Amino acid sequence: MVKVPTQLVTWDDIVNWSQGLANVIKKAGYRPDIIIAVSRGGYVPARLLCDFLLVENLISLQSQHWTEAAKVAEKAIIKFPYRVDLSGLRALLVDDIVDTGDTLILARDFIISEWKPAELKIAALQWISPVAKIKPDFYYIEVKEWVWFQYPWTRLEDTIQFLRRILREESGSKKVWTAQELKDRFLEYYGIYVGDTYFNLALETLVETGYLAKSEEKLYIVK
Ligand code: ADP
Repeated sequence: MVKVPTQLVTWDDIVNWSQGLANVIKKAGYRPDIIIAVSRGGYVPARLLCDFLLVENLISLQSQHWTEAAKVAEKAIIKFPYRVDLSGLRALLVDDIVDTGDTLILARDFIISEWKPAELKIAALQWISPVAKIKPDFYYIEVKEWVWFQYPWTRLEDTIQFLRRILREESGSKKVWTAQELKDRFLEYYGIYVGDTYFNLALETLVETGYLAKSEEKLYIVK
């Protein structure tokens, strides 16, 4: 049993899923004048939907979780609440996945009250139905059991976080690692492998940022 159920998503998957999502939107008869990407996860799907739906207008809004100092609870915020007039336009808000739905609900409410489009619908490649507080108008995949989707646009970021978790959790008993030991443990924890390029880049980054030291014998030492 892996510790964190994780699925590796490829660029080809993303193109196929985006095309599938575009078909769902077309079949429903919705013709958006403008697409709004939820930054950052919605960028690539939004750009692909512009292509598959032949939409020229693409803007974005950054809505993300923010850990307040000294608080465990996280709150979603609109990071740059700029104003734009969308009156008279049919808009489509696009994200990669609806997990809790918190960031998307916040983005939707902000757009309706501040940008005032004629109509706003929501599309996501994936919808985690048992946990989401909101059901998107259009989705391509319904996920019935929670999984972390390792999307291609967060491969380095995720790999660094994944490695940090291993190093942290094992630090009581192990502080010196070979690259191979870390690779093996990565597979045990997450059940996937991200490929040598990303794996090595993540290790190099952890050394550069001072989290790990690398010895002449190519051992990685937790600082
Ligand atoms: P929402 O459910 O409103 O999308 P979350 O705060 O749960 O908001 O997620 C914000 C972003 O975090 C998502 O758009 C996605 O980029 C990333 N994310 C959340 N859950 C997952 C998951 N299970 N797999 C991959 N990425 C995720």
